[in-house]
Amino acid sequence: MSAAEAALLAPFATAFAFLFGLNVGSFLNVVAHRLPLGLSVVRPRSRCPGCLTPIAARDNIPVISWALLRGRCRGCKGRISARYAAVELLCGALAAWIAYAVVAGPGRLADGVAWAHAGVVFVAMAAMLAASLIDLDHRILPDQLTIPGMWCGPAVAAFVPELVLRREARGGALELLTWLPQSWPVPLHAAVLSAIGVAVGGGVIWGLGAVGSRVLGKEAMGFGDVKFLAAIGGFAGPMGAVVALLLAALLGSVVGIARTIMTGDRYMPFGPFLAVGGLVAMLHGADLVASYVRTVMGG
Ligand SMILES: [Zn+2]
Repeated sequence: MSAAEAALLAPFATAFAFLFGLNVGSFLNVVAHRLPLGLSVVRPRSRCPGCLTPIAARDNIPVISWALLRGRCRGCKGRISARYAAVELLCGALAAWIAYAVVAGPGRLADGVAWAHAGVVFVAMAAMLAASLIDLDHRILPDQLTIPGMWCGPAVAAFVPELVLRREARGGALELLTWLPQSWPVPLHAAVLSAIGVAVGGGVIWGLGAVGSRVLGKEAMGFGDVKFLAAIGGFAGPMGAVVALLLAALLGSVVGIARTIMTGDRYMPFGPFLAVGGLVAMLHGADLVASYVRTVMGG
């Protein structure tokens, strides 16, 4: 594929990702509602939260149905929260961002590995979005999402090394890990680096939480946050885990201070901020670290 062809097709790939993301966002609304209640996320069909009438397929088109029905149920005319449509739009936008960042680059569009990489980041994003919604509603990050995330990262990284290794670094820059057996069916460098990411992600936030709890004299960090950042570390690598935590702390402080001033409420779930930091780290963590090092080293 030529550069001109790639430039022509990239917007289509991004638009496709957006539409795909809208539909997954619709499913995530169901997951966020049912998972904490211990209900199946696939059956039965979605119902109106007010009158429990099953929602017809034509009324279940992401965003559009909500807008056409002006945010009301067709049956009982009860209000349907704008959050459902907002989550669909957000998931679509994030999917488009992932596609743009991972597969729209030169030479990537026809590259199966790039699509696999984008797919894995997309699944991680969807899980983080669902976990964030549940954290906002119930103040928990559910084990059903964080614990599989912790072991999925290393397993997936073995097959999609781009998750934790920059392309240029494949094979070369990781002499540290070359004691690993080279004759395995899949190269294990990325899996091991991902597992280190799990340990670093969980360890860093657990350590900070322990210090914070001592200083504040109360629980500073929930164990759900520890498992969540551990899972993020598996998908973003050790440096990515640190980048995610720094971004989450920065963003969380700004929003938290603003929120305390406006509402007087001091409690704020940290999961959504870890999710934002995690996604930025998965997509641009290596670039952020590189430009930070350049700035600090002055090179
Ligand atoms: Zn209804």
